[in-house]
Amino acid sequence: MAISLKRYLFFLLLIFLYPITANSDDYFNRITMASDGRITRFDHSPITVYISSPDVPDDIKQSYVDDIEYALDQWSSISEGQLKFQRIEKEDADIRICWTNKLLSPEGDPLGESSLVQFSQNKFYVNVSILIKGIPTSATSVHKEIRTVALHEIGHAIGLWGHSKDVNDVMYLKTKAMYPTRRDKETLIKLLSYPNGSAFHDNAISELKADISENAYAPHLHLWLGSVYADKGYDDLAIQELTYTLNLDPNFLKAADRLARIFQKEGMNQKAIQYYRELARHEPSSGLFGMIGMLYFQQKDYPLAIDYFQKAYYLDNSNTAVKNNSLTAYHLWASDLIKSGNPNGAISVLNQAMIRFPSSRILYYDLGTAYDYKKEYEKAVEYYKKSLELEPSFEPAKKDIATCMNNMGAEQIQNKNLLAGIDICKQALIWDPNCWQAKKNLEIANLELGRQKQESGLMDDAIVYYRSVIELNPNNIDAYVGLGDAYYEKGLYRESIEYYQNALKIDPNLQYAKDGIAFIKRLININRAKIAGFFIILSTAFVFIAFLLYRSLRNKKTMNNGIVQSER
Ligand SMILES: [Zn+2]
Repeated sequence: MAISLKRYLFFLLLIFLYPITANSDDYFNRITMASDGRITRFDHSPITVYISSPDVPDDIKQSYVDDIEYALDQWSSISEGQLKFQRIEKEDADIRICWTNKLLSPEGDPLGESSLVQFSQNKFYVNVSILIKGIPTSATSVHKEIRTVALHEIGHAIGLWGHSKDVNDVMYLKTKAMYPTRRDKETLIKLLSYPNGSAFHDNAISELKADISENAYAPHLHLWLGSVYADKGYDDLAIQELTYTLNLDPNFLKAADRLARIFQKEGMNQKAIQYYRELARHEPSSGLFGMIGMLYFQQKDYPLAIDYFQKAYYLDNSNTAVKNNSLTAYHLWASDLIKSGNPNGAISVLNQAMIRFPSSRILYYDLGTAYDYKKEYEKAVEYYKKSLELEPSFEPAKKDIATCMNNMGAEQIQNKNLLAGIDICKQALIWDPNCWQAKKNLEIANLELGRQKQESGLMDDAIVYYRSVIELNPNNIDAYVGLGDAYYEKGLYRESIEYYQNALKIDPNLQYAKDGIAFIKRLININRAKIAGFFIILSTAFVFIAFLLYRSLRNKKTMNNGIVQSER
């Protein structure tokens, strides 16, 4: 009886306690703190995992891989069958585990790091880095530590994007846990009951604010809060938090990136400028001026961008980033002016820039482009060459020199200065052997010269130029016809026919070549007939002479016979 009363009281106690503990016995409210306030988990099964080979001696590699397998098994075993992992040997897995001997992120996990690489709410993967401290070993104490870290980091990877406040939990920041606790399990099961993308911004915001009240200067907390605000659409608050993050840690790239993504939204730029100018008025700094410069730069307001970059550089001349930005602003400013048909404006901007950046390859090249646009090719070439002196491997300058040379050559050819044109176009091909325009102009000039020589009766010279044309373009019909004509004039009929035939190979309907061949063939036949006639006459003459000779011999013989006969 006493026992059953005790039992009764125990159950009563449980019934009263259960609802209280059940509500607070997970840290679900904290699992979207680092994932923009949204459930971010793989909702397919199995989740693929790639474990890269640790950089340790071969005989102990497996012990490191086993630690990861251990962590995966632990999470799988408390998921009520909902989490299945599949190890694959391809690097494009959902979870990609690598080993490192140096952690870079300031976010806090002391021995490992999980980073979400997100393309959209449904498309992402997770990189997990596990720190290998000191000399690799298979010692149990070391691997206990790695298992603890792996358990924690894989917890993030499967969707627990926050830290528990209970020291016993796997998801406690500086955890020592070897096994997930009941709280870890409850949180996981609750997580798995929500689809990926479910919004819990307000939970994340209140948890982050509570954490910040205890630890006001942790950059990662402000980054997370700013990111949640941004996801919720509270841009002003997001900008404020992210700017504060960058004040705490100017090198926190994730914060700068998040901030830039907010400003990329339409209409945000002007707001941001106002915000930073106000800040800079109270507390001018190189960083703030640089940021304002950047915002003007994004708006393509180059004069103001340059102005602010200069101010930033003036306050801190170790800030080389603003110096580079200023150069880029000059470059883009000039490029825009050229594109909008104002090369003179570009030249004056570039000359102004040259005072600050006297040995910039980019500025010399831009000056070349501006003069190129104005068709002042000699000047353009001069500047292109200067840019090449500063960077000899800068290919675009070589191509542009070739184009300018070609244009100069084309002008000469148009003005009938054919030899000068050929000379310049040949130089263009030295700068860029693939400059097809120069090849085309050389072809035209050589053909024209061939015709001129032919008209002047200088067939050998004409042949040289026509051959040059064919070297440049083996399909130039006019050059083959020209060669056909020139060889005809020289009386070399076989060669002449050959070249007309070449022309016909390219254009089988070319009547001129057909007529040419027919004419030469007739000519040859007439000549043959003449020769044949000559031989007929000659042989007739021989026959006649032979007949006469025969007759005269026969007469003599007859006379002799007569003599002999008369003696008898
Ligand atoms: Zn963590």
